[in-house]
Amino acid sequence: MFEKILIANRGEIALRVLRACKELGIPTVAVHSTADADAMHVRLADESVCIGPPAAKDSYLNVPALLAACEITGADAVHPGYGFLSENARFAEILDEHGIHFIGPKAEHIRIMGDKIEAKRTALRLGIPCVPGSDGGVATEAEAIKVAREIGYPVLIKASAGGGGRGMKVALNESEISTAFSTARSEAKAAFGNDDVYMEKYLQTPRHIEIQVLGDGRGNAIHLGERDCSLQRRHQKVLEESPSPALNTAARDDIGEIVANAMRELKYLGVGTIEFLFEEGKFYFIEMNTRIQVEHPVTEMITDIDLILEQIRVASGAALDITQKDVKFHGHAIECRINAENPVTFRPSPGRILHYHPPGGMGVRIDSAAYQGYTIPPYYDSLIGKLIVHGKTRTECLMRLKRALDEFVVDGVETTLPLFKTLVRNNDILNGDYHIHWLEKFLEAGGMKE
Ligand code: ADP
Repeated sequence: MFEKILIANRGEIALRVLRACKELGIPTVAVHSTADADAMHVRLADESVCIGPPAAKDSYLNVPALLAACEITGADAVHPGYGFLSENARFAEILDEHGIHFIGPKAEHIRIMGDKIEAKRTALRLGIPCVPGSDGGVATEAEAIKVAREIGYPVLIKASAGGGGRGMKVALNESEISTAFSTARSEAKAAFGNDDVYMEKYLQTPRHIEIQVLGDGRGNAIHLGERDCSLQRRHQKVLEESPSPALNTAARDDIGEIVANAMRELKYLGVGTIEFLFEEGKFYFIEMNTRIQVEHPVTEMITDIDLILEQIRVASGAALDITQKDVKFHGHAIECRINAENPVTFRPSPGRILHYHPPGGMGVRIDSAAYQGYTIPPYYDSLIGKLIVHGKTRTECLMRLKRALDEFVVDGVETTLPLFKTLVRNNDILNGDYHIHWLEKFLEAGGMKE
């Protein structure tokens, strides 16, 4: 096992990793920018190192500073959390070159899955069903028109290096191809420095259902069921639940086994998520994330498996000691991502938290680094915490979520709590009857306005 783990992240995920390390009895090192000197992960870690000024590129993405922090503190492993350097294959290699373990997959797998064209090709080879689309990249407008005629409109033009929903454009018919193609390419170039794009059939009312996997790099791999992340705004997840209201046991076992087999064949190491769109009973692969995800707690709540702890164990070379048969799903879990944002305009609302009272009681979990008196800096994403609720049934879970949201007090900054209070009283949500465009339509129709 590792001697000391450096956590190359901030906010709630840094705290989440720190908790797993403490339970494993492993000393921790927090790193922070000058803007995060008062952050909770810095207070709770055994040691901390300031790695630079506020801008992420100078601190949390600053590889030489992170290497120096490992050197100074004697950390022999780095947990990257999510975001920042978590899917940077080169970072994993550099750590390796310095004799430091990267708590994550093998660099080659990060690289394959980070290039979406390559990821799709790999998925198809491994027997994972994909969205119909171009065979690899699309280089010219003429080629885009040809592909669109084959797969049928509407089509989606997507950046191969994409992430966070950027570089993605819909064309409803041939007259829209030209603009969609050139804007997707220029957005991709600006955001990722790479303007390779590919095409997919644009599915109209799918759900976003993803499968959690865990492998030990030796050919043992299991799946931990699904998360339904269909409630999205601008292709960003807002609320996640497990199990999905749209799946039954047979469908879950089928797709789970396909994915777990693929991971066995890859000899995948660590945690990962295979994302699908799900429409009319069929799964279509869209991408794989080779890291822990924001929404991992809903899986932990219904399986009782600590994903970060397992991630650390397998990264240290241990064999997976959970078999597929050991994985039992019980009850229902829902996560709400609470952002410091105006709940109607979604404008970020950084600033000082004057009063903070998180909910508690049975089946309620808060993953947050916020506290009373904490000042949310304006430099990073606006997630201030996750409220995760578990119940024996979906109905019990929703009732518990409703009361937990009513108890939650965050004063001094605006938050998205009112959005969730509204959603949890909406019939479509209560019935589990929603798809990836539901939330945007609801907001456009003035769902959050008086
Ligand atoms: P990113 O890496 O930018 O998050 P993804 O490929 O994971 O991109 O897609 C993000 C979201 O965009 C999905 O959850 C879904 O809402 C939407 N999306 C992606 N591909 C399609 C498609 N072929 N049809 C309809 N919606 C899609």
